[in-house]
Amino acid sequence: MSDFNDEDNQIDNVLAFTKRFDSNADIRAQLNVIKTKPPETVHCMHKGLYVNEHERIVKCQRCGKVIDPFDWLLGQARKEFNIDFELRGLRQEIKDHREGLEKLKREEVNTRARIKTATFKLHDIQMKLHALDKGDSGG
Ligand SMILES: [Zn+2]
Repeated sequence: MSDFNDEDNQIDNVLAFTKRFDSNADIRAQLNVIKTKPPETVHCMHKGLYVNEHERIVKCQRCGKVIDPFDWLLGQARKEFNIDFELRGLRQEIKDHREGLEKLKREEVNTRARIKTATFKLHDIQMKLHALDKGDSGG
């Protein structure tokens, strides 16, 4: 019969106790819904998650925050879209570098051919000079 009275007494005791520290504690005690302060944690990326099948909630393993599954999935989808975008860019970069390499290889082949031709021409000129030197010394 006195369960409710005991509870009321306990609440009154708690109120009397909290009033010692907060003069507005009685106002707060009359509220039906009280928003709790967010826990003071360092910025967490919520990388590891617990999936609680019984409570049907998803929680961060590190900070314990309850994660909205839709928000988490949306974040994953955005990350994957960004990865897809980056991969496309990297593939294009690889393609451009390969084309540049092929162009350099063609230039190298052409340059070697020009050096070879120039070497032959130089050799011919040296032979002609040598022949001229022999002709001068002989006559
Ligand atoms: Zn977290």
